[in-house]
Amino acid sequence: FRQRSAKFLITAVKQGHYQHLSHPEVAFAGRSNVGKSSLINSVLCSQSLVKTSKKPGHTSALNFFSLSSRARAGEINIVDMPGYGFRSRREWGGFITEYLSGRKVLRRVFMLVEAKVGELKSTDVSFLELVEEYRVPIQLVITKADKLKSADAAQISNAVIKEATRIAPSVLLPQAICCSSRTRMGIDTLQAEVLSVCGL
Ligand code: GDP
Repeated sequence: FRQRSAKFLITAVKQGHYQHLSHPEVAFAGRSNVGKSSLINSVLCSQSLVKTSKKPGHTSALNFFSLSSRARAGEINIVDMPGYGFRSRREWGGFITEYLSGRKVLRRVFMLVEAKVGELKSTDVSFLELVEEYRVPIQLVITKADKLKSADAAQISNAVIKEATRIAPSVLLPQAICCSSRTRMGIDTLQAEVLSVCGL
């Protein structure tokens, strides 16, 4: 990501808003307060491009960012999905379903689970069911891993993968990435994964 530049593109609630964006894309999803804004900022190497907010469910739309890497001569899009902890699938679902079902350039969803929570909540399960239904590749990211000893983080990561595999067997990647925006642990690995899945 050296010589990269990141910028905010658009906020979208329907396909018409984003269908002109055609670069390879990844999306980040997770319950409110999981550390998603901080993590996307880390991936974009930005301080505040994604507005971090303490208010639960603050983001209620899809926010699109672009990341270009001059060194690798390419551009990708990164999508911040709304935090889903405080909504039912029905409330949350319409434009998310539209996005997941019809987005051809979407290469992978990174689903965030907080290390200390250490298990899937019902909204995580609903989300996994949705990506399984629409066959979107998904990888788990364990966030705020600085709050745990690394052995504990590894154990939690294995347990969460096992549980998630039962729900989304055909789309879940077998490996999770443990990250901390605070210490930058795992951020290089996540950045490399984002670039590589987008073909850069
Ligand atoms: P979002 O609601 O998922 O976008 O989460 P935010 O990025 O706004 O973070 C929610 C809270 O978790 C904030 O108080 C952050 O300071 C804190 N947080 C975010 N990332 C980390 C991390 O890597 N480690 C720790 N210890 N706290 C974090």
